Amino acid sequence: MHDSLQDFSGAGADGRAGNPRPVYLDGHATTPLAPESHAAMEPWWHAQAGNPNSPHRHGQYADAAVEAARGHVAALIGAMPGEIHFTSGATEANNLAIVGSALAALARGERRRGIVVSQIEHKSVLNAAHALERDGFTVTELPVTNKGVIALERASAAISDDTLLVSVMAANNEIGAVQPVAEIADIARARGALVHVDGAQLAGKLPFVAGSFDLVSLSSHKMYGPMGIGALYVSGAAPYRPRPILYGGDQEGGLRPGTLPTPLIAGFGAAAKVAAERLDADIRHSAALAGRFEEELRSRQVRFIRHGSNAARLPGSVSMAFEGVDANELIAMVSAEISISEGSACQSGQITHSHVLRAIELSDNLIKSTVRLYFGRYNTTDHAVLAAVSIASAVRRLQGRTGDFLQ
Ligand code: PMP
Repeated sequence: MHDSLQDFSGAGADGRAGNPRPVYLDGHATTPLAPESHAAMEPWWHAQAGNPNSPHRHGQYADAAVEAARGHVAALIGAMPGEIHFTSGATEANNLAIVGSALAALARGERRRGIVVSQIEHKSVLNAAHALERDGFTVTELPVTNKGVIALERASAAISDDTLLVSVMAANNEIGAVQPVAEIADIARARGALVHVDGAQLAGKLPFVAGSFDLVSLSSHKMYGPMGIGALYVSGAAPYRPRPILYGGDQEGGLRPGTLPTPLIAGFGAAAKVAAERLDADIRHSAALAGRFEEELRSRQVRFIRHGSNAARLPGSVSMAFEGVDANELIAMVSAEISISEGSACQSGQITHSHVLRAIELSDNLIKSTVRLYFGRYNTTDHAVLAAVSIASAVRRLQGRTGDFLQ
């Protein structure tokens, strides 16, 4: 391992124990692994684990672990275990939901060709939807308010009798804005469209019931589980199921072939179970830390513009701009103390600005000055204060340098 990465082994990176620096505050990109999830995976990496599809004892043990995990994931979103299909993550679940529904519609001779998404969807939704334009589908991107929330009148105007599928996220990964998915689902249903919700950021962080949607995508590593595993919920009441986009064995009801990764699934299941048990406590904790962070910034006379809605925001999520400050310079300056990111992690390193910050009509300057933080389960009040102290000092230095020093 590279020397400078040594510090990131074990529990240190999330600030839970041992080495506390830099403190991890980028939970929208990925959350640290819950100890319960780690413990649930451990035996499956060590033992001679069987293939859960094999008929012998080893296979049966693995299958029992997979089914227990399926139960926990289902319970988190109020679903039946049979409605949960494991995938490699939310990217694959989103692709399966969108491309698979389009394939199913074509196979059924369905005449509808419209796909409605929002402008602030994750790229795995936007790019999957736009890829279908080559096959005669049309994509409508719903605009959002300057708080990052899909306006219901716009959804109502865009969803028509030609709409095959409406795909909207439950909460946004850059500004934490919670979306009115239940109301959008009602509109879509009334016009006979399928409804897919990308629940990657919200499930496990706020109460969420899958029942009023046809399809829901989940990601384990956004709820303190391992990376590389997620799920697509397909409602038992959906008018029809997506067609598979991969071909192979008949795992996951033929919807998603491939040997099931028992360790990852066991870890995902444990993460979902803990998330359900700790939901209220996690919500209070994250919201309190984000509040404390902003308070500490204010008490240091640091001026900032917080994006997104106050009312409909993921607890712990903070997206803010510091006028006259280059976000990348700020992030580099605080990097020994805290790990935070600009815009969205998926965009990092690219010259194009965040499509989400554009959609809420921020100026180029404010987009360049925006950072994103997330205060999660394993962060503490000390972390919130450290983040404020560290950012306040860096912002002063940067604003001083550009002559934009305030106060
Ligand atoms: N949707 C949203 C809203 C996300 O935030 C992410 C992860 N950035 C994904 C989908 C993709 O999830 P995964 O990493 O599990 O493929």
